[in-house]
Amino acid sequence: GSTIGILGSGQLGRMIAIAAAQLGYRCHIYAPETGPANDVAPAFTQGAYDDDAALATFAAQVDVVTYEFENVEAAPIDRLGDLVPVRPSPKSLKVAQDRVSEKRFVEALGGRPARWAEVPDRTALDEAVAAIGCPAILKTTRFGYDGKGQARLASPADADAAWEAIGSGPAILEGFVAFDHEFSIVIARGLDGRTVSYPPPRNVHKHGILDTSILPAPAEIAAQWTEAATLAGRVAEALDHVGVLTLEFFAGREGPVFNEMAPRVHNSGHWTIEGAETSQFENHARAILGLPLGPTGLTGSAVSMTNLIGDDATRWADLAAEPGLHLHLYGKHEARPGRKMGHVTRVTR
Ligand code: ATP
Ligand code: MG
Ligand code: MG
Repeated sequence: GSTIGILGSGQLGRMIAIAAAQLGYRCHIYAPETGPANDVAPAFTQGAYDDDAALATFAAQVDVVTYEFENVEAAPIDRLGDLVPVRPSPKSLKVAQDRVSEKRFVEALGGRPARWAEVPDRTALDEAVAAIGCPAILKTTRFGYDGKGQARLASPADADAAWEAIGSGPAILEGFVAFDHEFSIVIARGLDGRTVSYPPPRNVHKHGILDTSILPAPAEIAAQWTEAATLAGRVAEALDHVGVLTLEFFAGREGPVFNEMAPRVHNSGHWTIEGAETSQFENHARAILGLPLGPTGLTGSAVSMTNLIGDDATRWADLAAEPGLHLHLYGKHEARPGRKMGHVTRVTR
């Protein structure tokens, strides 16, 4: 087969479709509305993620299905999996889309998250604050991204405001980690179970959104790389994951502290398009297609990736004038604040 179905029409799907096209494969997007991926994929089925009839029509037209996000109900994706191979499997989606299940799963494999407690309702929040202490972060268990669905508690007196800020439970409370740096492990696992993993970037966040990824990472991260990458390999194996999987970590005195995972290509892997021998998007495509995975080494002595958020993307003409800068714009029409519009990558040879 030669057609990849992608659930979701965002920039991650777009970059998977570009990599797939280079390998001679066609992509067919399934999403409730058009987005950046539609500009580069030849086919589109418009439908809700829980529309079984539309999903069945889509399944009949593709050879393998992947997804570019995890914030979708798992049941219809499970049923889709009865019709066509879904890679990564719905199990990866289910574990990674819920902060309680992902933490339990990773803990069982030896990973160490920050101290955390389940907060199913407002009463449980007071108990969690007493158990965990402050500062702490309250996070909805599902559907959060780019720091949305989170509220910080400097003291127990912030409990009401934090509960109100996230809207409703269920949630978890996490102890605030005084980390030196954040980093991520992006790993790809093939259909044959072989894995490759990328060197870890130092990830700098602003207002809960990734701003920049920088490689090579500083010594504090390098010292924790092996433990983190070993854990990522164990998680991929235990999920029987096929495709790219990303784990986020905090590096500090108690590190590596596991933050969260994503069963997909990741913003902290965008640097790999020009900065690694094989991009995360190509390796994701290779994995779900059953092809051998490509090498992951750096293409230069240093690499950085910076997101273009909101109005940043209007500076594109200035950016394009910088020699050697790689400009990526996702073709989004409206530059809302906090919206990821594109990114730039710099490789130092
Ligand atoms: P993403 O867009 O990466 O999916 P998200 O909305 O799921 O983000 P998290 O990764 O949980 O959110 O948190 C966003 C950022 O907030 C982290 O990258 C980190 O900078 C900060 N943060 C989250 N949890 C903690 C913590 N326990 N201690 C300290 N900082 C934290
Ligand atoms: Mg997340
Ligand atoms: Mg995160």
